[in-house]
Amino acid sequence: MSKTKLLIVEDEPTLLETLKYNLVRQGYEVITASDGVTALPTARSEKPDLVILDVMLPGLDGFEICRILRQEMSLPIIMLTAKDEEVDKIVGLEVGADDYLTKPFSMRELQARVKAHLRRVRLLREEIESSGQTVSAALDVGAVFTFEDLVIDEGRIEVRRDGDVLAMKPKEFELLIFLARNRGIALGRSLILERVWGWDFDGGSRTVDVHIRWLREKIEVDPANPQRILTVRGIGYRFDG
Ligand code: CA
Repeated sequence: MSKTKLLIVEDEPTLLETLKYNLVRQGYEVITASDGVTALPTARSEKPDLVILDVMLPGLDGFEICRILRQEMSLPIIMLTAKDEEVDKIVGLEVGADDYLTKPFSMRELQARVKAHLRRVRLLREEIESSGQTVSAALDVGAVFTFEDLVIDEGRIEVRRDGDVLAMKPKEFELLIFLARNRGIALGRSLILERVWGWDFDGGSRTVDVHIRWLREKIEVDPANPQRILTVRGIGYRFDG
């Protein structure tokens, strides 16, 4: 079995070496880039399983790299930020990061996040692969949800609107699936966070709101006046299909 490949983009040589050393010891294949300009071609040629991306970089900054990577490939992106400011975290989520860590962080913490994100992707893949083999789709794995012009195809990890495939990052897709499975039910933000992001995610309920906004931009006719994903005041959201 080939090793899981991680790309670390970090311009501080000492930190980069420390990260690399520790993650190699954990059994990962680690490739590195130390500026924003080489990060993209490296990611394109190496096709890593996960990216650890510093925000402040010479050349292109981490947010810009994240935004571009997100359009080109589907993989977990963990951002490293120097400042513990909510605004940074929100921007990170806006550009499509799956997670962020504020410096200084412990190696143990980073390893845990890396592991959790890789596991999430692996489970999703396994679920989909297994769905093709078993006829007893009683678990509803790989379901296809159709709501008028909107088709959410769990097996193909694909959302189509009027036949056009919508670009979605993994978390948006998982969130939409969770909403679709619970159609007509008001879902609290904390429940959504727990089910979609996992109990150990500490990003806060604002994360849910940000992702809901992205989904609305993609699946609503008028995102400012949503008819599919409704806000339930004081609780969270309800998907009406
Ligand atoms: Ca930096």
